[in-house]
Amino acid sequence: MLDCAIIGGGPAGLTAGLYTTRGGLKNVTLFEMGMPGGQITNSSEIENYPGFFEHDKTGMDFMDTWQNQCFHFGLKHEMKKVERVAKTGDYFTVTLEGGETVEAMTVIVCTGSTPKRAGFKGEDEYFGKGVSTCATCDGFFYKDKPVTVLGGGDTALEEAYYLSNICSDVYVVHRRDTFRAAPSTVDRVKRKENIHLVTDTVIEEVIGDAMGVSGVKLKNKEGVITQMDNPGLFVFVGHNVNNAVLQDENGDFICKMNDWGQVIVDLSMKTSVEGLFAAGDIRIEAPKQVVSAAGDGAIAALQVISYIQEQA
Ligand code: FAD
Ligand code: NAP
Repeated sequence: MLDCAIIGGGPAGLTAGLYTTRGGLKNVTLFEMGMPGGQITNSSEIENYPGFFEHDKTGMDFMDTWQNQCFHFGLKHEMKKVERVAKTGDYFTVTLEGGETVEAMTVIVCTGSTPKRAGFKGEDEYFGKGVSTCATCDGFFYKDKPVTVLGGGDTALEEAYYLSNICSDVYVVHRRDTFRAAPSTVDRVKRKENIHLVTDTVIEEVIGDAMGVSGVKLKNKEGVITQMDNPGLFVFVGHNVNNAVLQDENGDFICKMNDWGQVIVDLSMKTSVEGLFAAGDIRIEAPKQVVSAAGDGAIAALQVISYIQEQA
């Protein structure tokens, strides 16, 4: 029986592993379906993690030292995909791909959420080289420059507003002429002088060169193609929350979730199920930043230690 099963090896899961093992738990395993590091390893630069200010280092370089540190105190790693978590009496059963099961007294779910791609030409090629899904992470790279935002939901409009305080102009491209975002958010965006709404329009292609994105080709509903020479493109077309491990065989969630499939936790990262914690981008109101995911992981780990002491 594991003291703790950690699912997902991004910043939240690795930090949870560091704190549980360094806090004295002997039997902690991190299940990560790929290499540990999480989605930040896709980033070509990280500038907003306090204490790390090296411009020539990628997200992969950044996470390298995390692994060395987090595995130093006895955290075990299994490169396995978790299919499902279930509570059986006082403990949890973790089902791995292939059907093998592992028992654990506590579980911390840190499987993150994945921004959706829109599917236009060049999106994958320029992802991380001018195409971004994170305004907090990358907005500053376009200080006083014009940027394009794609999407018409709450995220797109809220992030457009955030970018409008950094960038010279923000062009919000949306495929319809009405917005999915809350009316109050739409009004706020319309009142901002440097935000321009480009409706009934799709992105045909993002263009650029070895230096990164140089602009976007747009197509309106009449089929007219235009080009905007904006160096940054932010895509906000929704997220897939990686919550499948919390669904039972009938597809019902084992703990309380909000309408968008994020795990409801309190400030201690406790879910509605005793002994089950969630940390990082999978939880409600996650700022979707490395620093906050790591903080969540530490909080959850400290709670796991207390929970296990209480059960003894
Ligand atoms: P993740 O990092 O998403 O990790 C989740 C892990 O769980 C993944 O490794 C995944 O493989 C694993 N997993 C999922 N399902 C399963 C399963 N069923 N079984 C086993 N393993 C599973 N943040 C910043 O603070 N600054 C930045 O500059 C910045 N730049 C970014 C640039 C890019 C291109 C991207 C994509 C993100 C960026 N972010 C940045 C956001 C940051 O990466 C995330 O907020 C952070 O990684 C979230 O950490 P997490 O541990 O919650 O989840
Ligand atoms: P969302 O509501 O699903 O909106 C996605 C937007 O992207 C939509 O406008 C959609 O267009 C557009 N889109 C989708 N696929 C596209 C494609 N391939 N090409 C071009 N455009 C595409 O996603 P979200 O904004 O991330 O929000 C997710 C949920 O979180 C929502 O329920 C939202 O209300 C909530 N949220 C709430 C807050 C808040 O309350 N403050 C903040 C952020 C998010 P269509 O409109 O035409 O479908």
